[in-house]
Amino acid sequence: MTGEMTIEETNGYECASEARRFRPVTAEVIRALEGIVGTGGVVVDAERLEVYSHDETSEADYVRMPEVVVKPRDASEVSQILRLANRETIPVTPRGSGTGLSGGCVPMFGGIVLSMERMNRIIEVDRENLFIVVEPGVTTGEIQRRARRKGCSMRATRVRPKARR
Ligand SMILES: Cc1cc2nc3c(=O)[nH]c(=O)nc-3n(C[C@H](O)[C@H](O)[C@H](O)COP(=O)(O)OP(=O)(O)OC[C@H]3O[C@@H](n4cnc5c(N)ncnc54)[C@H](O)[C@@H]3O)c2cc1C
Repeated sequence: MTGEMTIEETNGYECASEARRFRPVTAEVIRALEGIVGTGGVVVDAERLEVYSHDETSEADYVRMPEVVVKPRDASEVSQILRLANRETIPVTPRGSGTGLSGGCVPMFGGIVLSMERMNRIIEVDRENLFIVVEPGVTTGEIQRRARRKGCSMRATRVRPKARR
């Protein structure tokens, strides 16, 4: 491709030279993704894709639509998806629950959003050594519930002590 790309052609991203490196997600790629994760693990309709176009940031600059969302069930499927994306030069953006506040899971170049929501198993809670082994799609709420059953809790927020009057 020659000449300058417009902002629209780069999925809104200003850096056209970066976006130019990538190829679009074709019907053939969608079929291959369905072959890896099953049809229930692939999202292509615009209404459902919208949820994956942003995180908890409210700024409009951090909103981009993915071309497809793929939900692997294990590491082997993640590996197959990445191999396919690499071969086809399609950008991949991993996503947990989209609760970040810096736009990290926003697919700035379109392509694939790799959603971890189906990899949501808690593998091990070790009370004695105070650690927990989880898959990347487990929510903080679920970790808290499981930890509490063992008499523990996960401190995710640093609570500032109240100012003395
Ligand atoms: C109301 C509110 C309260 C919050 N309170 C806290 C708090 O108390 N403490 C705190 O630490 N944070 C807090 N946060 C921030 C947010 O919850 C954390 O940043 C959280 O860890 C993001 O997790 P996520 O799975 O939603 O990540 P996402 O937003 O989905 O992704 C965050 C980044 O990680 C990358 N990523 C996601 N999964 C993977 C993966 N498996 N492999 C590689 N990269 C991956 C994404 O591409 C992105 O760059 C809060 C946010 C909100 C909205």
